[in-house]
Amino acid sequence: MAKEKEECIFCKIARKEIPAEIVYESENFIAFPDVNPKTKGHTLIIPKKHYENLVEMPDILGNELIETIKKVAEIRFKQGADGFNIVVNTGEAAGQIVMHAHIHILPRKKKEKIQFPCDTENNV
Ligand code: 5GP
Ligand code: ZN
Repeated sequence: MAKEKEECIFCKIARKEIPAEIVYESENFIAFPDVNPKTKGHTLIIPKKHYENLVEMPDILGNELIETIKKVAEIRFKQGADGFNIVVNTGEAAGQIVMHAHIHILPRKKKEKIQFPCDTENNV
């Protein structure tokens, strides 16, 4: 296995070497809670295969990704979310810290204020 994939934290989660609560799983994607949630139910969706970012991910996975986003949203709506934001930090300049493609699903409640972008390092 390439060193990059061997050491990638999200590959380890996808391979179930690191335990994570699986919120939803499809053929090519896995959704689990962000370890440092910005809102209640903050969830990450990742492709099981290692792609550095969304741009590197094959287009063919697009439909399944949208389906997975909808499934996660449905789960969070049932748990009381009123809406959600999708954030995709792509590249270091945009605040991407984990170099394995991932989509942030940020469930929102009415009148709840959060800061965008969800850039933990720069907090711009
Ligand atoms: P990025 O800035 O790359 O878009 O965000 C990476 C996200 O991954 C951060 O919100 C961070 O809290 C989350 N994260 C980093 N390491 C882990 C981990 O080992 N487990 C989980 N569940 N989330 C992680
Ligand atoms: Zn990876």
